[in-house]
Amino acid sequence: MDTVTRPRILVVGAGFAGVECVRRLERKLAPDEADVTLVTPYSYQLYLPLLPQVASGVLTPQSIAVSLRRSRRYRTRIIPGGAIGVDLKAKVCVVQTITDKVVDEPYDYIVLAPGSVTRTFDIPGLIDHAYGMKTLAEAAYVRDHVISQLDLADASDDPGERAARLQFVVVGGGYAGTETTACLQRLTHAALRRYPRLDPALIKWHLIDIAPQLMPELGDKLGRSAQQILRRRGIDISLGVSIAKAGAREVTFTDGRVVPTHTLIWTAGVVASPLMATLGADTVRGRLAVTAEMTLPGHDGVFALGDAAAVPDRAEHEEGAVCPPTAQHASRQGRQVADNVIATLRNQPLSPYVHHDLGLVVDLGGRDAVSKPLGVELRGLPAQAVARGYHWSALRTNVAKTRVLTNWLLNAIGGDDFVRTGFQARRPAKLKDFEYTNTYLTPDQVRAHVAGRALDSPAD
Ligand SMILES: Cc1cc2nc3c(=O)[nH]c(=O)nc-3n(C[C@H](O)[C@H](O)[C@H](O)COP(=O)(O)OP(=O)(O)OC[C@H]3O[C@@H](n4cnc5c(N)ncnc54)[C@H](O)[C@@H]3O)c2cc1C
Repeated sequence: MDTVTRPRILVVGAGFAGVECVRRLERKLAPDEADVTLVTPYSYQLYLPLLPQVASGVLTPQSIAVSLRRSRRYRTRIIPGGAIGVDLKAKVCVVQTITDKVVDEPYDYIVLAPGSVTRTFDIPGLIDHAYGMKTLAEAAYVRDHVISQLDLADASDDPGERAARLQFVVVGGGYAGTETTACLQRLTHAALRRYPRLDPALIKWHLIDIAPQLMPELGDKLGRSAQQILRRRGIDISLGVSIAKAGAREVTFTDGRVVPTHTLIWTAGVVASPLMATLGADTVRGRLAVTAEMTLPGHDGVFALGDAAAVPDRAEHEEGAVCPPTAQHASRQGRQVADNVIATLRNQPLSPYVHHDLGLVVDLGGRDAVSKPLGVELRGLPAQAVARGYHWSALRTNVAKTRVLTNWLLNAIGGDDFVRTGFQARRPAKLKDFEYTNTYLTPDQVRAHVAGRALDSPAD
C-alpha cells in the first residue's frame, strides 16, 4: 500500500504573526495539500496592545486571550510547548512541551514567529526587583500587586511605609510604558474613593525614559500633548533619565534621586526571542535577518517574521530600514508569509512584504488619548474613539469583541472594585521569573541533540 506523505508546515508562535499565518493557510490550502502544526506554550493569542487595560482592571484577562480553536476552518495540530532550538540542516525543531518533555518535530517548511521578550540591561537588581508588562500573567500580577500596595498602605501606621508603598516607578516611555503608567495611575486615583484613609498627596507615579521624548513615533506636537495630559494628572515624567540601581524597597535614578518604592515596572523595549540565536544564522540586533519575502537566505523552506525577524521595510525610503516591532506589521506579515509558503509549495513566485504604516493609537485611560491615524493628529475623545475602535475591530473573534465591549461598558458604568485575586500571591513574579528566557539551547546543543536522536532512533 502506498503511503502519501504531505508536506509538513510548522509554525512556531501563536501571536499576531503566527495566528494570521495559520488562519490563512487553513483557508487557502486544501486539507490534503499539507499538514499544518503550531507550536505554542499557550492556547490563546494574546492581544498585547490591550494588556495595560488588564493591569488596570478595565478588562478581564480572559477578554484579551483570544481562542486558537474558535474558527470554522480550524484543523491545525497544536503542540502545547515552546521551541527551544531549530536545526536548519536536519530540518528539525526541538520542542519542550508544557510537561517539560523534549520532542523533535521534523518539518519541510518552518515559519518562525516567536515574537520578542523584554529587553533588559545589566543594571544592579533590575531582573530581581522589576515587574514586566509582556505576558497575561504579568499584567494580572501587576494589578494584584498595585492593589496590595493600596491595601498595605491603608493598613499601615508607619508614615515611611505608607509613602513608599504609594510611589510607583515605570521605566520606558514607549507606548507600552506610557499606556501602562496612564492606566494604572487612573486605577490608583479612582481607588481614593474606596480608601478614604489614604492621603491623595502621597500617591505618586514616576514615568522615566533615557530618551529625550515620550513616544517619538507620535511626532513633536502630539508627543507634547501626551506629556501635558499625563503631567496634568500628576504623573512625574523624567526624560534623559534611567535607573542606576533597583532594590526591594527603593530605586535609584541615574540623576541621583532615590525613590522609596515597592513597585518598579520595566517596559524599556523588547528584543527578539532567544530562539533566533539557536539557529546560528545572521541577525540584525537579535532579529533574524530575512529577505523582503521573509525567507532566510541559504535555507530552503525557512520563513521568519514579526518581532523576531528584521523584515526589510519596503515602504520606508531609508536604505536598510526594517519594519518596527508592532502588531500592525506582524499580522500583515503573517498573511503575506502564508501566501509565500503556499507559493513555494506550488512552485510559484514569492511576493515581498510591503505595508504603509497606518499610524499609532495611544489610550491613556478614560477620555484621554492621542492618536495619529493616517497622519491625522487627534486628541481627547476623537482620539479615544479611534484607539478603541481600532483595537476592537482588530480582535479576531466575535466572542472576544463582545467580551471587550461588555467590559468597557461595565467599567465605564460601574468602575473598579479593587479586588485582589491572590492567585499568584507568594510566587516568584519578577522579570526573571515570567519569560522563561533560560530554557533555550545553543546552536551546538541543538545539533548535538538532533544528531543524538538520529543515532538513537533505530532503538526508539
Ligand atoms: C504592552 C504592549 C502594548 C503594545 N501596544 C501596541 C500597539 O498599540 N500597537 C501595535 O501595533 N503594537 C503594540 N505592541 C507590540 C505588539 O504587541 C507586537 O509587536 C506584536 O505582538 C508582535 O507580534 P508577534 O506575532 O511577532 O509576537 P507576539 O504577538 O508576541 O507572539 C509571539 C507568540 O509566540 C509565543 N512564543 C514565544 N516563544 C516561543 C517559543 N520558543 N516557541 C513557541 N512559541 C513561542 C508567545 O507565547 C506568543 O504567543 C504592544 C506590545 C506590548 C507589550
